[in-house]
Amino acid sequence: MHKLSPRQVHLDFHTSPLIPGIGSNYSREDFQNALKTGHLSSITIFAKCHHGMCYYPTKVGTMHPGLDFDLLGEMIDAAHEVGVRAPVYITAGWSAHDAEQHPEWWVRKKGGETASPHVDLNAAPDDPRPECNWIHLCLNDGSYCQHIYDITREICDRYEHLDGLFYDICFIGEVCYCDECVAGMKAMGLDPENDEDARAYYILKRQSFMTKCGEIMREKHPDATIFFNSGGADPYRPEYHAYETHYEMEDLPTVWGGYDKMPCNAKFFSKTGKGYLGMTGKFHMGWGEFGGFKPGFALKFEVASMMAYGASCSIGDQLHPDGKFDPETYRNIGEAYSYVEKIEDYCLDGESCTKLGVYLSGDSKSDEGMVKMLLETQNDFEIVYQDDYTPFDTVIFPDCVKLSDESAEKLQAFITKGGKVLFTGESLVKDGVFQIDPGAAYAGSHGFNFDYITVGDKIAEGMVTSPMYCYTPGAKINVTDGEVLATTTMPYFNRTYGAYCSHKNTPYDRNNSGHPAAVRKGNVVYISHKICALYKEYGSVYYKSYFINALNLLYTDKVMEAEMTSAGRAALIKQPAQNLYSLNLMYGSPIRRDKVEVIEDLPVIRDIPVTLRVPEKITKVFLPVSGVELPFEQKDGAVKVTVPELQCHELVVFCYA
Ligand SMILES: [Zn+2]
Repeated sequence: MHKLSPRQVHLDFHTSPLIPGIGSNYSREDFQNALKTGHLSSITIFAKCHHGMCYYPTKVGTMHPGLDFDLLGEMIDAAHEVGVRAPVYITAGWSAHDAEQHPEWWVRKKGGETASPHVDLNAAPDDPRPECNWIHLCLNDGSYCQHIYDITREICDRYEHLDGLFYDICFIGEVCYCDECVAGMKAMGLDPENDEDARAYYILKRQSFMTKCGEIMREKHPDATIFFNSGGADPYRPEYHAYETHYEMEDLPTVWGGYDKMPCNAKFFSKTGKGYLGMTGKFHMGWGEFGGFKPGFALKFEVASMMAYGASCSIGDQLHPDGKFDPETYRNIGEAYSYVEKIEDYCLDGESCTKLGVYLSGDSKSDEGMVKMLLETQNDFEIVYQDDYTPFDTVIFPDCVKLSDESAEKLQAFITKGGKVLFTGESLVKDGVFQIDPGAAYAGSHGFNFDYITVGDKIAEGMVTSPMYCYTPGAKINVTDGEVLATTTMPYFNRTYGAYCSHKNTPYDRNNSGHPAAVRKGNVVYISHKICALYKEYGSVYYKSYFINALNLLYTDKVMEAEMTSAGRAALIKQPAQNLYSLNLMYGSPIRRDKVEVIEDLPVIRDIPVTLRVPEKITKVFLPVSGVELPFEQKDGAVKVTVPELQCHELVVFCYA
């Protein structure tokens, strides 16, 4: 049994109290048919929605006025009857009915102003309402939270077989100044006027909210799962991770910033030892979109991507108020999940094999830029978790990583033992001094807003050799005993009203060139530009080549190589219990169409050369989906195989003795 149910649907049911006949078209047969057609193993169903309506007979909350039976209880039973889990959804941060009744429960800014963006409190009833328009309620363990605890207890008491609880809209903010929070801070001896005090109070009280929900649930349901969405799976907020049994990485790649964010989050959560899932939607765009569809082949691409990074899958849907399941939605989901069924045993619960580590900076632009460059060059990587460098041969520090003295010491020990480091931009600079020695001294800024890089021979592969415009400048460094790999040329002047040239950046001044831009000393390479953020923002092939060429100077002993172009993805895991390695290969290039990125073209890619360097003797290489065995050769520590054909996704399994 996997840590987390692999094929899930998150079934939204935010239903206006103005709509009658809730569940009037629901039937157990129709629901169970949808579960079977969709090949589901779990479906998250609703106790309470953003309108503040409950879908079971409640004494604590408000049952939807258009509902006259226990829809939640019926759905739990129906799902269990066909062997499908049914965790229960409870809205937290948004509840319109509660917000109307209790303005004292609203999140407030300093001075009492509402902290809910986009909500126009003076709008007339006939004014058009913007999308996703809800008042934020305070989750800092005050009287609104007591209401959530009461609902939680009621659900836990009412249903004998509860698989789990999913609390939604637990956005992680920084501060709240509602009356209760202000009074709470004072009672604890904290000063509400002091921002640090307010932030400390927020964290403490949010943790206490999460703790109490879990305690109530476990009184009767010790094995149930619990997750707090909209912040509970943020790699940059680890202070909230301990209160959850698993992580649901909510993402809508078509409209939430593309397909390359999930892999990095998956890599992070794979380190936690808990289960994690990728969450997307069946919608064309966003949550709550009735009648919006993503084709089955695009869903298949999305869920296969999750599988490729060891994540279970969840697809969001929204049930029609009358309770009838949409057959086309479950046909599309079934296309995706019937494929997952064939590959999941080879994708979940594996161990990473790569020797390339990346240290997350906390700056999403830099981290995403770095990850994109690695994904697009099929360089499999893992996250450096809790400052442990030992699993790695090479570690990258993108743009703005600051290490504690203790971690810097660990890093130095790693380098001394032969570990290799690539760092960029303002990373590993503390009090104006590099924390490790790249053969140069950090010297701040050249004083220009942009500059130009010229690469040297050792990192020239695929590059232009002319000065290359960098939209943001590199740091100034003075070389001590390092080898210069690239140089910077400065512009004649910054572009100002007083001094400018042509439409854009001032050209380079050949008389102000030769400043070190990248330098190497032994196992350490430093690139002075924030090249990861530059790549994320500008996407130049030459930025990527510059970075990857520098990486390749260090990272020469790759466990896995798959030769594909930039839309190709490759990730390898080991499953020691089964004596096998699983290689996931993907190819799908999202197309941007104004507001959305869609997957439509999934071309067939042929003859992909793959090399694996593993110590075991490989006995068989095969493609589990088709059952085809592949010829291979293993010599000098390398297994070489050619994958004949790939469309969307292919799984290649290497068995060893
Ligand atoms: Zn508050």
